[in-house]
Amino acid sequence: MNKKMNIAIDGPAGAGKSTVAKLVAEQLSFLYIDTGAMYRALTLAALREGLNLENGQVLTDLLGKTSIHLQHEQDGVRVLLNNEDVTEAIRMKDVTSNVSLVSSHEGVRIEMVERQRKLAEKGQAVLDGRDIGTYVLPNADVKVFLTASVEERARRRFEEQQQKGMSADFEQLKQDIARRDQLDSTRAFAPLKKADDAVEIDSTSLTIPEVAKAIIELAKERAR
Ligand code: C5P
Repeated sequence: MNKKMNIAIDGPAGAGKSTVAKLVAEQLSFLYIDTGAMYRALTLAALREGLNLENGQVLTDLLGKTSIHLQHEQDGVRVLLNNEDVTEAIRMKDVTSNVSLVSSHEGVRIEMVERQRKLAEKGQAVLDGRDIGTYVLPNADVKVFLTASVEERARRRFEEQQQKGMSADFEQLKQDIARRDQLDSTRAFAPLKKADDAVEIDSTSLTIPEVAKAIIELAKERAR
Protein backbone atom coordinates (compact mmCIF):
# COMPACT_ATOMS: atom_id res chain seq x y z
CA MET A 1 0.00 0.00 0.00
CA ASN A 2 1.21 3.49 -0.91
CA LYS A 3 3.14 4.98 2.02
CA LYS A 4 1.46 8.35 1.65
CA MET A 5 -2.04 7.02 1.16
CA ASN A 6 -4.76 8.63 3.28
CA ILE A 7 -8.39 7.65 3.49
CA ALA A 8 -11.09 10.25 4.20
CA ILE A 9 -14.47 9.13 5.52
CA ASP A 10 -17.10 11.84 5.85
CA GLY A 11 -20.80 11.78 6.45
CA PRO A 12 -23.60 12.74 8.83
CA ALA A 13 -23.86 11.74 12.49
CA GLY A 14 -24.50 8.07 13.16
CA ALA A 15 -23.76 6.75 9.66
CA GLY A 16 -21.20 4.36 11.16
CA LYS A 17 -18.11 6.35 10.19
CA SER A 18 -16.07 5.75 13.31
CA THR A 19 -16.76 2.01 13.54
CA VAL A 20 -15.99 1.58 9.85
CA ALA A 21 -12.91 3.82 9.99
CA LYS A 22 -11.52 1.88 12.95
CA LEU A 23 -12.00 -1.42 11.16
CA VAL A 24 -10.45 -0.18 7.92
CA ALA A 25 -7.47 1.25 9.83
CA GLU A 26 -7.03 -2.00 11.73
CA GLN A 27 -7.14 -4.15 8.61
CA LEU A 28 -4.70 -1.96 6.69
CA SER A 29 -2.49 -1.21 9.73
CA PHE A 30 -3.20 2.49 9.22
CA LEU A 31 -3.56 5.14 11.93
CA TYR A 32 -7.15 6.00 12.88
CA ILE A 33 -7.81 9.71 13.46
CA ASP A 34 -11.21 10.55 14.94
CA THR A 35 -11.56 14.27 14.18
CA GLY A 36 -15.00 14.46 15.84
CA ALA A 37 -13.37 13.45 19.13
CA MET A 38 -11.12 16.52 18.86
CA TYR A 39 -14.11 18.87 18.51
CA ARG A 40 -15.83 17.03 21.35
CA ALA A 41 -12.80 17.44 23.63
CA LEU A 42 -12.77 21.20 23.02
CA THR A 43 -16.51 21.35 23.68
CA LEU A 44 -16.03 19.56 27.00
CA ALA A 45 -13.25 21.97 27.99
CA ALA A 46 -15.44 24.98 27.11
CA LEU A 47 -18.44 23.63 29.03
CA ARG A 48 -16.29 23.01 32.09
CA GLU A 49 -15.06 26.58 31.99
CA GLY A 50 -18.60 27.86 31.52
CA LEU A 51 -17.65 29.78 28.36
CA ASN A 52 -20.09 31.38 25.95
CA LEU A 53 -20.22 28.86 23.11
CA GLU A 54 -21.47 31.49 20.66
CA ASN A 55 -18.17 33.35 20.99
CA GLY A 56 -15.72 32.01 18.40
CA GLN A 57 -12.80 34.12 19.62
CA VAL A 58 -13.06 32.88 23.19
CA LEU A 59 -13.20 29.28 21.97
CA THR A 60 -10.29 29.77 19.58
CA ASP A 61 -8.24 31.20 22.46
CA LEU A 62 -9.18 28.25 24.63
CA LEU A 63 -8.12 25.81 21.91
CA GLY A 64 -4.77 27.62 21.62
CA LYS A 65 -3.91 26.64 25.19
CA THR A 66 -5.50 23.20 25.11
CA SER A 67 -3.76 19.97 24.22
CA ILE A 68 -5.85 17.25 22.64
CA HIS A 69 -4.17 13.94 22.09
CA LEU A 70 -5.45 10.76 20.48
CA GLN A 71 -3.56 7.98 22.17
CA HIS A 72 -3.55 4.65 20.40
CA GLU A 73 -3.70 1.67 22.71
CA GLN A 74 -4.28 -1.99 22.20
CA ASP A 75 -7.97 -1.80 23.07
CA GLY A 76 -8.68 1.38 21.11
CA VAL A 77 -8.03 5.09 21.06
CA ARG A 78 -8.06 7.12 24.28
CA VAL A 79 -8.78 10.84 24.04
CA LEU A 80 -6.62 13.01 26.27
CA LEU A 81 -7.57 16.58 27.10
CA ASN A 82 -4.58 18.31 28.72
CA ASN A 83 -3.40 14.79 29.59
CA GLU A 84 -6.67 13.84 31.30
CA ASP A 85 -8.46 10.81 29.86
CA VAL A 86 -11.86 12.11 28.64
CA THR A 87 -12.69 9.21 26.30
CA GLU A 88 -16.03 8.55 28.00
CA ALA A 89 -16.79 12.13 29.09
CA ILE A 90 -16.80 13.46 25.51
CA ARG A 91 -19.71 11.14 24.64
CA MET A 92 -22.01 12.73 27.23
CA LYS A 93 -25.27 14.33 26.10
CA ASP A 94 -24.20 17.81 27.03
CA VAL A 95 -21.15 17.57 24.79
CA THR A 96 -23.08 15.97 21.93
CA SER A 97 -25.73 18.68 21.91
CA ASN A 98 -23.20 21.53 21.92
CA VAL A 99 -20.40 20.23 19.70
CA SER A 100 -21.92 21.44 16.42
CA LEU A 101 -22.09 24.99 17.74
CA VAL A 102 -18.50 24.91 19.00
CA SER A 103 -17.24 23.45 15.72
CA SER A 104 -19.06 26.01 13.59
CA HIS A 105 -16.56 28.78 14.42
CA GLU A 106 -13.98 29.50 11.74
CA GLY A 107 -11.09 30.14 14.15
CA VAL A 108 -11.71 26.83 15.89
CA ARG A 109 -11.82 24.95 12.59
CA ILE A 110 -8.67 26.54 11.19
CA GLU A 111 -6.64 25.44 14.22
CA MET A 112 -8.22 21.96 14.35
CA VAL A 113 -7.62 21.41 10.64
CA GLU A 114 -3.97 22.36 11.06
CA ARG A 115 -3.61 19.79 13.85
CA GLN A 116 -5.40 17.15 11.79
CA ARG A 117 -3.21 17.73 8.74
CA LYS A 118 -0.13 17.30 10.93
CA LEU A 119 -1.45 14.01 12.27
CA ALA A 120 -2.04 12.78 8.71
CA GLU A 121 1.09 14.12 7.07
CA LYS A 122 3.02 10.86 7.26
CA GLY A 123 0.25 9.08 5.35
CA GLN A 124 -1.31 5.70 6.05
CA ALA A 125 -4.09 7.30 8.04
CA VAL A 126 -7.86 6.95 8.06
CA LEU A 127 -9.62 10.14 9.11
CA ASP A 128 -13.32 10.39 9.81
CA GLY A 129 -15.28 13.60 10.09
CA ARG A 130 -17.38 16.05 8.12
CA ASP A 131 -14.90 18.03 6.02
CA ILE A 132 -11.98 15.65 5.51
CA GLY A 133 -12.42 15.07 1.77
CA THR A 134 -13.54 18.62 1.01
CA TYR A 135 -11.20 20.62 3.18
CA VAL A 136 -8.75 18.88 5.51
CA LEU A 137 -7.25 16.52 2.91
CA PRO A 138 -8.56 17.56 -0.52
CA ASN A 139 -5.93 15.28 -2.10
CA ALA A 140 -6.77 12.16 -0.10
CA ASP A 141 -6.37 9.05 -2.27
CA VAL A 142 -9.65 7.55 -1.15
CA LYS A 143 -12.72 9.62 -0.26
CA VAL A 144 -15.90 8.07 1.02
CA PHE A 145 -19.16 9.78 1.88
CA LEU A 146 -21.01 7.44 4.20
CA THR A 147 -24.74 7.93 4.66
CA ALA A 148 -27.76 6.10 6.09
CA SER A 149 -31.37 7.11 6.65
CA VAL A 150 -32.09 9.22 9.76
CA GLU A 151 -34.32 6.41 11.05
CA GLU A 152 -31.53 3.84 10.75
CA ARG A 153 -28.93 6.13 12.28
CA ALA A 154 -31.18 6.83 15.27
CA ARG A 155 -31.84 3.11 15.65
CA ARG A 156 -28.08 2.41 15.77
CA ARG A 157 -27.47 5.12 18.36
CA PHE A 158 -30.40 3.78 20.39
CA GLU A 159 -28.93 0.28 20.46
CA GLU A 160 -25.46 1.62 21.22
CA GLN A 161 -26.74 3.57 24.22
CA GLN A 162 -28.79 0.67 25.50
CA GLN A 163 -25.77 -1.60 25.30
CA LYS A 164 -23.82 0.90 27.36
CA GLY A 165 -26.62 0.84 29.93
CA MET A 166 -27.54 4.46 29.17
CA SER A 167 -31.19 5.48 28.96
CA ALA A 168 -32.29 6.29 25.43
CA ASP A 169 -35.34 7.85 23.83
CA PHE A 170 -35.64 6.93 20.15
CA GLU A 171 -37.68 9.97 19.05
CA GLN A 172 -35.32 12.28 20.91
CA LEU A 173 -32.29 10.64 19.27
CA LYS A 174 -33.88 11.06 15.87
CA GLN A 175 -34.52 14.74 16.50
CA ASP A 176 -30.96 15.28 17.79
CA ILE A 177 -29.44 13.59 14.75
CA ALA A 178 -31.59 15.61 12.34
CA ARG A 179 -30.68 18.81 14.17
CA ARG A 180 -26.95 18.02 14.08
CA ASP A 181 -27.18 17.21 10.34
CA GLN A 182 -28.87 20.54 9.76
CA LEU A 183 -26.27 22.53 11.74
CA ASP A 184 -23.30 20.67 10.23
CA SER A 185 -24.47 21.04 6.63
CA THR A 186 -25.57 24.66 6.77
CA ARG A 187 -22.65 26.23 8.67
CA ALA A 188 -20.83 28.90 6.66
CA PHE A 189 -17.31 27.53 6.98
CA ALA A 190 -16.39 24.06 5.63
CA PRO A 191 -19.86 22.52 5.96
CA LEU A 192 -20.65 18.83 5.76
CA LYS A 193 -20.81 18.13 2.05
CA LYS A 194 -19.91 15.27 -0.24
CA ALA A 195 -16.66 16.00 -2.11
CA ASP A 196 -17.17 15.84 -5.89
CA ASP A 197 -14.70 12.97 -6.13
CA ALA A 198 -15.97 11.05 -3.10
CA VAL A 199 -17.63 7.66 -3.47
CA GLU A 200 -21.01 7.66 -1.74
CA ILE A 201 -21.87 4.53 0.23
CA ASP A 202 -25.35 4.19 1.73
CA SER A 203 -24.95 1.95 4.76
CA THR A 204 -28.67 1.66 5.59
CA SER A 205 -28.81 -1.97 4.59
CA LEU A 206 -25.13 -2.89 4.79
CA THR A 207 -23.22 -4.34 7.73
CA ILE A 208 -20.12 -2.64 9.10
CA PRO A 209 -17.75 -5.33 7.69
CA GLU A 210 -19.41 -4.97 4.27
CA VAL A 211 -18.81 -1.22 4.26
CA ALA A 212 -15.22 -1.67 5.48
CA LYS A 213 -14.59 -4.25 2.76
CA ALA A 214 -15.86 -1.87 0.06
CA ILE A 215 -13.53 0.87 1.31
CA ILE A 216 -10.52 -1.47 1.44
CA GLU A 217 -11.28 -2.53 -2.14
CA LEU A 218 -11.27 1.14 -3.17
CA ALA A 219 -7.94 1.66 -1.41
CA LYS A 220 -6.44 -1.34 -3.19
CA GLU A 221 -7.73 -0.10 -6.55
CA ARG A 222 -6.20 3.33 -5.98
CA ALA A 223 -2.91 1.77 -4.92
CA ARG A 224 -2.57 -0.07 -8.22
O1 C5P B 1 -18.09 12.43 14.54
P1 C5P B 1 -18.81 12.98 15.74
O2 C5P B 1 -20.28 12.75 15.71
O3 C5P B 1 -18.19 12.57 17.04
O4 C5P B 1 -18.58 14.55 15.61
C1 C5P B 1 -19.14 15.44 16.54
C2 C5P B 1 -19.39 16.79 15.88
O5 C5P B 1 -18.15 17.43 15.61
C3 C5P B 1 -20.15 16.79 14.57
O6 C5P B 1 -21.55 16.79 14.72
C4 C5P B 1 -19.68 18.10 13.95
O7 C5P B 1 -20.42 19.19 14.46
C5 C5P B 1 -18.26 18.24 14.46
N1 C5P B 1 -17.26 17.80 13.51
C6 C5P B 1 -16.89 18.69 12.53
N2 C5P B 1 -15.90 18.37 11.64
C7 C5P B 1 -15.28 17.18 11.72
C8 C5P B 1 -15.66 16.24 12.70
C9 C5P B 1 -16.68 16.58 13.57
O8 C5P B 1 -17.44 19.78 12.43
N3 C5P B 1 -14.29 16.92 10.88
